[in-house]
Amino acid sequence: MTNHLYDRVFGAHAASSKTFLYTDAGEISFAEFAAITNRIANTLVEAGVTPGDRVAVQADKSPMLLALYAATVKAGGVYLPLNTGYTAAELDYFIGDARPAVVVVRDNAAEAITPVAERCNARLMTLNADETGSLADAARTSADSFDAVTRGSEDLAAILYTSGTTGRSKGAKLCHRNLLSNAEVLADYWQFTEQDVLLHMLPIYHTHGLFVASNLLAMVGGSMIFLPKFSADAALAWMPKATSMMGVPTFYTRLLDSDGFTADISKHMRLFISGSAPLLAETHTQFEERTGKAILERYGMTETNMSTSNPYDGDRRAGTVGFPLPGVDIRIADPKTGAPLADGEIGIIELKGDNVFLGYWEMPEKTEESFRDDGYFITGDMAVRDERGYISIVGRDKDLIISGGLNVYPKEVEGMIDEIDGVLESAVIGVPHRDFGEGVVAVVVRSDDSLAAETIETSLAAKLAKFKQPKAIIFIDALPRNSMGKVQKAELRKTHDGLFA
Ligand code: AMP
Repeated sequence: MTNHLYDRVFGAHAASSKTFLYTDAGEISFAEFAAITNRIANTLVEAGVTPGDRVAVQADKSPMLLALYAATVKAGGVYLPLNTGYTAAELDYFIGDARPAVVVVRDNAAEAITPVAERCNARLMTLNADETGSLADAARTSADSFDAVTRGSEDLAAILYTSGTTGRSKGAKLCHRNLLSNAEVLADYWQFTEQDVLLHMLPIYHTHGLFVASNLLAMVGGSMIFLPKFSADAALAWMPKATSMMGVPTFYTRLLDSDGFTADISKHMRLFISGSAPLLAETHTQFEERTGKAILERYGMTETNMSTSNPYDGDRRAGTVGFPLPGVDIRIADPKTGAPLADGEIGIIELKGDNVFLGYWEMPEKTEESFRDDGYFITGDMAVRDERGYISIVGRDKDLIISGGLNVYPKEVEGMIDEIDGVLESAVIGVPHRDFGEGVVAVVVRSDDSLAAETIETSLAAKLAKFKQPKAIIFIDALPRNSMGKVQKAELRKTHDGLFA
């Protein structure tokens, strides 16, 4: 029987005795991982999972959690990972919305989730960070062989809820084709082979750690150093064994903050990849100065998997996300009409390809709103393409500030503030303003506490049109970021909502 995604990804090396995962607790071969996967697949089927059923999971990263994903796909189910930071109240919404057949949580959440699971007749099981729990117990006594359930390219493999900064969080439906095609394209583009050992410190409830990293390494028969979370010390300790690393920008800034991170410790590394949030050009430059290596920045989102990348061979340009990946059609379009714009003009990224999701779970209107009539998905990311074809993201469309009827792109203002001596980083937001509709506000983190707001104002006055200059400058200790390193602008807007009231 054939299972479109499983066969090519986790099934491809299932008989191999080579190490798939290195962990602090020991090594797990591909064959051992396949056996754990089979045991869990049998457990899921015994718990009532039939093809197309959702398996909703909020659990800590471990090899068994990764096997739970592989097992769900192999059993024909739809994997639904949930951010470990979500509260019971938030889980209530996701579980009620997705109506899974099985819900897996940590033991310490089981009591709070029991009524939620009962309401949708889901079977509740547990899995803890140390691979204990009722799911782990049941799996240990299940058979270690399992015939993959037949699934085709268009069948759902996963639903990932978007972080939903506005309105209700939406479940992005990803089919076997979406995930497999992207893994194939990336493996080729980034030249991953079975020689690779990827330093994996990302969470696996998100597209980056789950699909980009894990599908790819499993598919090519490479290995992963599979750590529960990022720490600079752990990264440095394991780096001699690694060939490559995928991270969010904060991983790289923290590595650069660490004295132990030197050209020597990284000289054997083949590739450092960054994504999920903008990598500051300054970080890119500092990294290259320190190590002699250029970070490869790429761009993607839950709904589209990966869509653009800087080249493997060739110029990896700081502050850009590179070119469309093979098989991805991208246009920078007029946000109102979808008409393609000329190079150099700022517009919205719209794209098409096997990587693009099927739509939002049980939200046909939201799905329809998100696609143009000619099938292009409207990403909501504003960008510009230069004369060499490199794409740079300038921000989310909803972060665009309209002050006195004029468009202000936060990235432009942030870039100028970040260049000022004594500034570490900044976030520029629009908040309601009685005269201008929205007023530009700069939230600034200083590296030198003696830097005054007037110095920033004077510097910007010489470079920026008046309507783009901040009407208020606020100093804070650190920008609020989520677990993927994204600055939470919605939170900043909320905090400073009444500033110009
Ligand atoms: P998520 O669905 O959580 O993966 O978030 C996707 C969003 O992250 C995209 O729509 C972009 O706004 C942002 N993003 C991802 N990669 C990059 C990047 N390299 N540079 C800037 N923004 C990025």
